Amino acid sequence: MNITVIGTGYVGLVTGAGLADFGNEVTCVDIDAAKIEALQAGAIPIYEPGLQAIVAKNAAEGRLRFTTDLEGSIRSARAIFIAVGTPQKADGSADLRYVEEVARTIAGFMDGPKLIVTKSTVPIGTGRIIEAIIDEAGKKHLASIVSNPEFLREGSAIEDFMRPDRVVIGASDEEAIALMKEIYAPLHTLEVPFVVTNVESSELIKYAANGFLATKISFINEIAVLCEKLGGDVQDVARGIGLDSRIGPKFLQAGPGFGGSCFPKDTAAIAEIARRHGYSFQIIDAVLKVNEDIKERSVRKVIEAVGDVSGKAIGILGLAFKPETDDMRDSPTIPLIEGLQLQGARVRAYDPQAMENARRMFDNVEFCHDAYQTARDCDALVIATEWNEFRALNLDRIKSVMRSPVIIDLRNVYDPARMEKQGFRYTCLGRSKVLHRTSTPVAS
Ligand code: NAD
Repeated sequence: MNITVIGTGYVGLVTGAGLADFGNEVTCVDIDAAKIEALQAGAIPIYEPGLQAIVAKNAAEGRLRFTTDLEGSIRSARAIFIAVGTPQKADGSADLRYVEEVARTIAGFMDGPKLIVTKSTVPIGTGRIIEAIIDEAGKKHLASIVSNPEFLREGSAIEDFMRPDRVVIGASDEEAIALMKEIYAPLHTLEVPFVVTNVESSELIKYAANGFLATKISFINEIAVLCEKLGGDVQDVARGIGLDSRIGPKFLQAGPGFGGSCFPKDTAAIAEIARRHGYSFQIIDAVLKVNEDIKERSVRKVIEAVGDVSGKAIGILGLAFKPETDDMRDSPTIPLIEGLQLQGARVRAYDPQAMENARRMFDNVEFCHDAYQTARDCDALVIATEWNEFRALNLDRIKSVMRSPVIIDLRNVYDPARMEKQGFRYTCLGRSKVLHRTSTPVAS
């Protein structure tokens, strides 16, 4: 099928490449001319493992192309996927201006039957807004509005797109549903479940999924606080509850709070949607509050470990909101670094992939080229993102270059007993020394 994907960011580019790999003819279009020029030249504007290879393969085989020509790509497509950003507004709600702008562009150029598919995460009711925009242009009879939320995780986006846990399709007409199934045909042979529902339910599924996952994270972060107060080990507690098949082991790693381009904005948006409809979504409100508290707690942890941080050098290992991505949006390292700077700390930092994005975000941070340069003359080192290279540091070397051997491990990467034996003053999350460890820690 001829498909156009509008918006060539983390989701649009993976969607375009993935749909091309499924055998569709895909045009990826963006208003960012520099991005499209780079893609045409074979460069990938973001860091996402495996993306370069799948883009190159499908472009070489003629199924994937890149353009800024919205008119031509809308006219030639049978299905148009909207994958533009829906950032958070000041009141917490999702900013729909890019989605609405694209809907108006589609309405202006469409000249035949089109499947208009929303991949962007959008508030419940957005499908109806798009329909109204198309209707205003007198073209409602040509359009089928579909919601098809995306659940990929940055860092494993290709695998998630090519082998998703499920595909959700929200549509109201049979032809649209059949066309969507055709687009995703290879997933039928992999026996991927399809959840077919109405547009509103589909839009809500995405927010409910992210709200639930964020709840798990805030929950385990609070359990970590309790572990510190009561003498427990959050790794063992996570394993103990995660082995219950009703709970499951994922998203139960204590950390510095959730971040990234989705969880913070999507949880804020679902809370705002509920409020607008006269309901206070109490669990989500609490999840957001806990996340703010946990982020502040990270700053306090460093201060507790170092004492007065004013004038002290603090090294930060990892800046992206999680490993295997360069995405800095809403990363918990932002309030961490700003909080430490506010207390007068001098911050040095390194991330394997997010340095370019980070440089644009921070003032007065000394960026380093690896963990050892970051640790040099530091009064404390913070492990903020659990990149693999930080899991296997040469600890003797780290210790020998630091001014004081103080490590604050906000990802629980290292074993407290081993770190102490190695001569570090080591702080982590929710792993009290009071209780003797009796089981194997969870592999993270
Ligand atoms: P992004 O900011 O990386 O990409 C958006 C792209 O859209 C940009 O390249 C921008 O130039 C382009 N764009 C904006 N207006 C345009 C227009 N009028 N015409 C053409 N292109 C336009 O965003 P993203 O991270 O890919 O997220 C896109 C959507 O997918 C969001 O709603 C997000 O919530 C959702 N989502 C994101 C993820 C994720 O992990 N990033 C996962 C699932 C869902």
